[in-house]
Amino acid sequence: MTEKLYDLNSYVKTCEAEVLSCTPAKKNGIEGFAVELSRTCFFPEGGGQPADVGTITAGNESVRVLYTYEQGEQIFHLCDKPLEVGCSVCAAIDFAPRFANMQIHSGEHILSGVILKEMGLHNVGFHMGHEFNTIDLDGEITPEQAHQLEAKVNAIICENRPVFVSYPDKEALPNIPLRKKPEVDHLRVVEVQDCDWCGCCGTHVAHTGEIGLLKILDVQRYKGGTRVSFLCGAAALADCADKCQSLKNICVSLSCKPQDAFSNVEKLKAELAEKKQALAAKNRQLFTLLAKQLCENAESFGEDKLVFVIDNSLSADDLKAFAAQIAANEKTVGALFSQQNGTISYALCRAKDAACDLRALSQHLNKALNGKGGGNQELCCGKLPEHPEEEIYQVISCSSLNIK
Ligand SMILES: [Zn+2]
Repeated sequence: MTEKLYDLNSYVKTCEAEVLSCTPAKKNGIEGFAVELSRTCFFPEGGGQPADVGTITAGNESVRVLYTYEQGEQIFHLCDKPLEVGCSVCAAIDFAPRFANMQIHSGEHILSGVILKEMGLHNVGFHMGHEFNTIDLDGEITPEQAHQLEAKVNAIICENRPVFVSYPDKEALPNIPLRKKPEVDHLRVVEVQDCDWCGCCGTHVAHTGEIGLLKILDVQRYKGGTRVSFLCGAAALADCADKCQSLKNICVSLSCKPQDAFSNVEKLKAELAEKKQALAAKNRQLFTLLAKQLCENAESFGEDKLVFVIDNSLSADDLKAFAAQIAANEKTVGALFSQQNGTISYALCRAKDAACDLRALSQHLNKALNGKGGGNQELCCGKLPEHPEEEIYQVISCSSLNIK
């Protein structure tokens, strides 16, 4: 059995120990050597908290601890190199990530305690992630409620309340207002003074002030309840700073105050939609005039006339709008193309009285130029890979010989 130095003191960063065993092992997808020590300050993964990593030094040799895990009463340090059994070592955890984990874990307990007290909802899942942390609740909360809960949590952080770890005896346990029913007899209780009591194996800060800040990032409906994403400590501050800078950039770009940024963006969106509509109306007028002109000078195409257009300024929607105007002219077939970002969009159209089999023409075009698309006898749309204009014209103009 390994003596667990982190259990009653989360601030033990290094310890002297003896190597009890060392065997090749693969755990959590990591290959290495499972090293058991007589005592350790390394926290093994558990209770939603990730494993500690760090270094074990024997004499002049150092090995990296890539992962720490518990098996029964034993704790194994998965190392990148083997260590000699029986030798004395110094084990040192990477304290910066561990302290961040302590901040998150204590923050999570306060958040869960406050949510239970204020909303009567239970934390049914906790995950510490690389980008953010989540708790899952057995009921719904709104973003406004989350905002109020966040303020209450941060008030408790500010009050710098002590956090206690204890192993109460069986008689004392029923008098403790535990957030969750205990599943084991010898329960380790983590208490945030006058806020939360929870059975937990994790490492915690000694005073809530060390958490610094808890920021709720998002609340989302999840499996009939709510998933709350949050950050603590330096990560929360960095996230706030990032978002502040983004808002600042937007405000410089819009020449407005932060509190006006959202309404300004909404205004710009509305203006853009209006301009798009106006442009589409102008384009329709332009397409009507152009179509008329092009149809007057159109070449013959079997029994019909062919209007062939390549204009890379036209969007796929423009092509359709233009095609509709061309098809309004008697006995006319339109073949319109526009190349943007290495892809050619096409629209084929025909007047109601035209003889051309439009779908056959579309299939012929797709086959000849490796394209995709289709439609009906009035309009066929699709896409082609890049091809020279002459080649496209050849494929269309020569097809009148085959397609009736
Ligand atoms: Zn916990």
